[in-house]
Amino acid sequence: MTTRALDSIYDLAVIGGGVNGCGIARDAAGRGASVVLFEQGDFAGATSSASTKLIHGGLRYLEHYEFRLVREALMEREVLWAMAPHIIRPLRFVLPHHDGLRPAWLLRLGLFLYDHLGGRKLLPATRTLDLTRDETGKPLRAGYTRGFEYSDCWVEDSRLVVLNALDAAERGADIRPRCRVVSAERAGDHWRIEVEEDGARETIRARVLVNAAGPWVHEVLAKVVRVNSPANVRLVQGSHIVVKKLYDHDRAYIFQNADGRIIFAIPYEHDFTLIGTTDRDYKGAPHAVKASEEEIAYLCAAASEYFKAPVTPEQVVWTYSGVRPLYDDGASKAQEATRDYVLELEDREGDRANLPPLLSVFGGKITTYRRLAEHAMEKLAPHLATLAKPGWTRGAPLPGGDFGVKDQPRVVAQLKRAHPWIDDALARRLVVAYGTRALRLLDGLRSRADLGRVFGADLTEAEVRYLMREEWARSADDVLWRRSKLGLRLSAGEAAALDAFMAEAQRPVTRRAAQ
Ligand SMILES: Cc1cc2nc3c(=O)[nH]c(=O)nc-3n(C[C@H](O)[C@H](O)[C@H](O)COP(=O)(O)OP(=O)(O)OC[C@H]3O[C@@H](n4cnc5c(N)ncnc54)[C@H](O)[C@@H]3O)c2cc1C
Repeated sequence: MTTRALDSIYDLAVIGGGVNGCGIARDAAGRGASVVLFEQGDFAGATSSASTKLIHGGLRYLEHYEFRLVREALMEREVLWAMAPHIIRPLRFVLPHHDGLRPAWLLRLGLFLYDHLGGRKLLPATRTLDLTRDETGKPLRAGYTRGFEYSDCWVEDSRLVVLNALDAAERGADIRPRCRVVSAERAGDHWRIEVEEDGARETIRARVLVNAAGPWVHEVLAKVVRVNSPANVRLVQGSHIVVKKLYDHDRAYIFQNADGRIIFAIPYEHDFTLIGTTDRDYKGAPHAVKASEEEIAYLCAAASEYFKAPVTPEQVVWTYSGVRPLYDDGASKAQEATRDYVLELEDREGDRANLPPLLSVFGGKITTYRRLAEHAMEKLAPHLATLAKPGWTRGAPLPGGDFGVKDQPRVVAQLKRAHPWIDDALARRLVVAYGTRALRLLDGLRSRADLGRVFGADLTEAEVRYLMREEWARSADDVLWRRSKLGLRLSAGEAAALDAFMAEAQRPVTRRAAQ
């Protein structure tokens, strides 16, 4: 990872280490631009770790006639799966049908479009299910006799973000987590950007500025760059609950609610079921967002309309909540606001043209982050010759994803051959998280003992050190909730011990030696 001389000017500076900022940094670095990215906290510390984790077209968006978005998103499913077959996998969704909500012909039409709009080659097609016979009918209440089953993909959202940051860094970008952009102003042909890291301030120069601050996009415009923008962001909260697993098969459900919304119930981390999401306007500070008791009760009630065994708030083992930074299209209901993205380019002020450009990202989905980055490059190309180079990210694997979509068992076998002493379950978990980089994680280790201290579940010192060395992890939360979901398995005491270990491992060697 490089750090440039202080007096040099970057081609591009990105504010925000969510999926969109990291995707843009990766794309630009791969086109040969010099890039710096600032993230005030950890990667995916905000919305990009709080999603439903679906790479999906969004069946529901067809009802709002968002055909452009649905088509682009559907096309991305197999593109992203091929780029990251370790952290992305296909998932089948079961939609139980019942009279009173959307009619069967409408669902069939929606699913026909879903099957045919978006370049599906490997994902299996839609089919009709007899829920009285199919195993997916068993956990459901009596009365659900017919259903539809269709394909989308599942993604480990926060790992997708860090892998984009990692790939950008390996292509020469300066990636700076825990570094907040405090102010940015135009100075001649470039931007002067003041950043703060560990209480110290520094000024950096760049020709182009990208504001990918997610729910802070408007705050960055108003308080950091201090410009008036006509575009506005609509903050919409979405919460999820996690309960012990409600059923044994590997398919997900999509349930239609009486209020016209839908929720998903998805197999999660082997032993759990993930249920979400809610949709309501949000007014507070983005970092303070938290699932409310009312939302938890809503999700439990909505799931209990379908599952035989009622889901209750007492069963909830974890919740998470995020804020969608949607483009404000004036829709009356939060659930109807467009999920499409808008890229706003500002390169003139009054009659002054050709100013150093500012590109702000509004809205978007995890699913469309790669296309959003390509569109951002197209918009910025007139300002930076290097960005006019052709797109390259389609087909370029993310770190560890350099194997075929059906080849995960082969990578697990390769890891076991190199390290016959590791358990099958750990080998599988490491490959699902790190892909072929699992070999790098275990490189040089010769026995179980070499994995070092065990922090809880199967998290060992070797993995924690890898995450600190290669993926910028600094705290237990980074490891337990964003680089993995082992937070579901470690006790509070174990997490605190991990935190203490990581703090100690980062202390300067000289200070440690002096004590
Ligand atoms: C409940 C919910 C469910 C969703 N489900 C799905 C789904 O299943 N599939 C899908 O495709 N999409 C889904 N989405 C949408 C998707 O999660 C978001 O569109 C996407 O994560 C937005 O990414 P982002 O990079 O724009 O924002 P963020 O991930 O929020 O990143 C912005 C970053 O900017 C940083 N930042 C802000 N200000 C500064 C500053 N001054 N200096 C430095 N850094 C700064 C923040 O710390 C933050 O990390 C869902 C969203 C929600 C809320």
